[in-house]
Amino acid sequence: MYRTHTCGELNANNIGETVSIAGWAQTIRDKGPIVWIDVRDRYGMTQIVGETGRVRDEILTTLKGIGREFVLQVTGEVVERHSKNPDIPTGDIEIVVSEIKILNGAKTPPFTIEDETDGGEELRMQYRYLDLRRNPVRKNLELRHKLSIETRKYMDSINFLEVETPYLIKSTPEGARDFVVPSRMNPGEFYALPQSPQTFKQLLMVSGYDRYYQIVKCFRDEDLRADRQPEFTQIDCEMAFVEQEDVLNTFEGLTKSLFKTILNVELDNFPRMDYVEAMEKYGSDKPDVRFGMEFKNLNSVAQNKGFNVFDSAEIVLGIVAEQAATYTRKQLDKLTDFVKRPQVGAKGMVYVKCNEDGTFKSSVDKFYSQEDLKAWADLADAKAGDLILVLSGDLDATRKQMNELRLHMGSELGLRNPADYKPLWVVDFPLLEWDEDSERYHAMHHPFTSPKAEDFDKLESAPGEVRANAYDLVINGVEIGGGSIRIHDKALQARMFDLLGFTPEEAKAQFGFLMDAFEYGAPPHGGIAFGFDRLCATLAGQESIRDFIAFPKNNSGRDVMIDAPAPIDGEQMKELFLNSTAERTEA
Ligand code: ASP
Repeated sequence: MYRTHTCGELNANNIGETVSIAGWAQTIRDKGPIVWIDVRDRYGMTQIVGETGRVRDEILTTLKGIGREFVLQVTGEVVERHSKNPDIPTGDIEIVVSEIKILNGAKTPPFTIEDETDGGEELRMQYRYLDLRRNPVRKNLELRHKLSIETRKYMDSINFLEVETPYLIKSTPEGARDFVVPSRMNPGEFYALPQSPQTFKQLLMVSGYDRYYQIVKCFRDEDLRADRQPEFTQIDCEMAFVEQEDVLNTFEGLTKSLFKTILNVELDNFPRMDYVEAMEKYGSDKPDVRFGMEFKNLNSVAQNKGFNVFDSAEIVLGIVAEQAATYTRKQLDKLTDFVKRPQVGAKGMVYVKCNEDGTFKSSVDKFYSQEDLKAWADLADAKAGDLILVLSGDLDATRKQMNELRLHMGSELGLRNPADYKPLWVVDFPLLEWDEDSERYHAMHHPFTSPKAEDFDKLESAPGEVRANAYDLVINGVEIGGGSIRIHDKALQARMFDLLGFTPEEAKAQFGFLMDAFEYGAPPHGGIAFGFDRLCATLAGQESIRDFIAFPKNNSGRDVMIDAPAPIDGEQMKELFLNSTAERTEA
């Protein structure tokens, strides 16, 4: 038997017992006649001690030969510690070593394996198995485990069946590129890894499994933006005989239950906001509604006063930062720098300080009188002491820039408390989105999303105005999940493919199986998928999903530990009918 206890469980109640533990040497303090070592395992840390006179000489010698991360098995008596450590559960005791076995030695690790480490990101990724020994990373994985258990419990309690769908499938266009897998048995043919189990879960509805879910890996070959992973996990769900409200209520239930069981946080009912309103008020389809600072359209008061920048703009937008009229010149310059950064892209920023004495001070005083500025303040609902920040230009661009500025101000003014959770549903997304490059419409969600019945008549006349039965769950400005009510009628699905520029032959070749299935009794259905990694990060109040994945890829989609992707040898290429001499074309 290697151990009688873990390194996390011994305390004053065990004093006098002879015990065995096993684990890794974290810190070694050699004070000559006395040596202390902290032994760590997944459960905690226990101090062992060897002292001349209390332990045999050879034990002391062995202790002195131990280095960081050696794997040890220790037996000894639990005794009370002289200097206690109230920060850890085992802090009242130590073990006086009577037997010690070095189960394995270890090279000096490339970074310190402690809560605060000196290792940089890339180094920690390369030695991820060492990074995983650190408490903060382990806690993240434990949270992830708990989240998956609680999800399964809840889904089971409301009759959802977990069904696995295949990973080797055929390409489904969902916006991103597919990862493909060559088939050795079918020369020149490829599988694709699923971007999501979308079509399979819809087929399960046709099969009568009216509540399906799966915690499942999805694969998307996207240009990697910060904090995207080429493989990630979803809680993927589908239900039959439901309308949008049924889906929203069901998953509001799941979300509330997860927040309650994991964080002991009771969430209020989730408000619904339509896409148009989200864009108008926040310039984002995933607004952070922990704070106000809603956009105000200032066109009527700011235009036609001789200020060309505003006169020539499609929109003049303002936000009000409460009690920020005290901002100094330097702070305002910094805000201007912020909006001018290429990532934000504004040309400049106008401010109006609403002074406590009722006067106004703006960066455009040359063009606007005190009465003019008072009209701005009235329209924007700004009070004495507030600061109005104004951006202008084309509608879409200005909204995007203002969204960035609003979030920045929210952070700067301390209005985005991570422990304050404000969920909402964003609903009524547009069905289609115009793509400038290909000069045609793309499905905003995916091609299986149902248009709203009241907009059917606009499908041909004004496709851009058609709204979808599509929804996103947003918490604190983060998109946690998204889904839609699906098309279950073959003719409507065919019309949709047509709108998206598929010929009937292309549609049949790609989705014949789904269209065929719709002819054998497809029930009305809809669903949603939650980003599982993202949900973990959100519940932990953190930003990076990478910290919640045991073996993540880096920003260029590489696993630097196993060094993948990597070339394969010529034989393997041949066997797969891949041309090993094919030139790599630059992206
Ligand atoms: N398949 C969709 C996605 O991965 C989710 C859904 O529509 O249920 O985003």
